[in-house]
Amino acid sequence: MNRVYNFSAGPSMLPLPVLEKAAAELVCYGESGMSVMEMSHRSPDYEAIINDAEAMLRKLMNIPDNYKVLFLQGGASTQFAAVPMNLIKRTGKADYAVSGQFSGKAFKEAQKLGYDVKCIATTKDDNFDHVPVITRDMIRPDAAYLHICFNNTIYGTKYPYIPDTGDIPLVADLSSCIISEPVDVSKFGVIYAGAQKNMAPAGLTLVIVREDLLDYAEADMPTMLEWKTMAENGSMYNTPPCYTIYMAKLVYEWILSLGGLDVMKEMNVKKAKLLYDYLDSQSYYLAPVKPESRSMMNVTFVTGDADLDKKFASEAGKAGLKNLKGHRSVGGMRASIYNAMPYEGVEALVAFMKDFAEKNPKA
Ligand SMILES: *Cc1c(COP(=O)(O)O)cnc(C)c1O
Repeated sequence: MNRVYNFSAGPSMLPLPVLEKAAAELVCYGESGMSVMEMSHRSPDYEAIINDAEAMLRKLMNIPDNYKVLFLQGGASTQFAAVPMNLIKRTGKADYAVSGQFSGKAFKEAQKLGYDVKCIATTKDDNFDHVPVITRDMIRPDAAYLHICFNNTIYGTKYPYIPDTGDIPLVADLSSCIISEPVDVSKFGVIYAGAQKNMAPAGLTLVIVREDLLDYAEADMPTMLEWKTMAENGSMYNTPPCYTIYMAKLVYEWILSLGGLDVMKEMNVKKAKLLYDYLDSQSYYLAPVKPESRSMMNVTFVTGDADLDKKFASEAGKAGLKNLKGHRSVGGMRASIYNAMPYEGVEALVAFMKDFAEKNPKA
């Protein structure tokens, strides 16, 4: 069977060379005589894998030495609780910008834990069709941090800039845009991301945290959520998600072999431009996101007719263009075009869109 173009928002496509390498090594890894899945996480073979994964990610993202890299479990959603529990003690309160569903969940989770958190900006009234403008004066001067979601997977928006928070640590959920382009890590206090969008299979959560922010954890918080414990134990306080870390390492290796994040960005810009240029050139499909907030990873569009949207997703699926249905909460269509989506996949999508528009005139 042929591989399809999979536009799923996550879990999502992995680069074919990565899957092929994993397949070749699946049963016997190197000289170990066993699969990575079967290895002790304390074995020399596995230690080399996790150390290489970290070293490659540091190189790829140019992570400064005063930041720790943690390979955790629980998904990005677990960090919605871990963030305030690790940081809020710095001052006792924290600010949030709500630009979509995941940042809304992060805010609610902190509220649920009883913390003094404030939503300083939201674009909810505009159906999240753009990201809020955040300026320094909007943030409470004694906030322990400002939390944002950098790329909004469901709505297809992204901050076109890194908000300037002054001395207040910026905490950002980068689940759906991590390693899609270079980012200046030093502008963030904490970056976290679930792996299953653009990095690896599900099961791994990446946390990149500035060292001086490791000292504010609640005394009575669950050990497994405490970044400091994980940092002191090299992400091996308990069994890490071993195989997923190995897969992430293969993905990092693949990107490095292509030339790193500058090259990745070039490829991603080219793909997104092809799709947005087409959307802007016609009137059959509407792209609801304001141009300045457009995501390079998740591209949303609608026909304006729910039945046609449904037909589009279904017929695209039959043509080998899978998972184009928008998130269940917003409808329409969404093409997630992460690192692993080849340019040809986007070309095939645009060709299909043209064909569909011709064959299905609107009443
Ligand atoms: C998918 C996603 C999440 C949720 O991730 P889980 O790993 O499923 O918890 C959170 N934030 C963003 C931006 C996402 O895209």
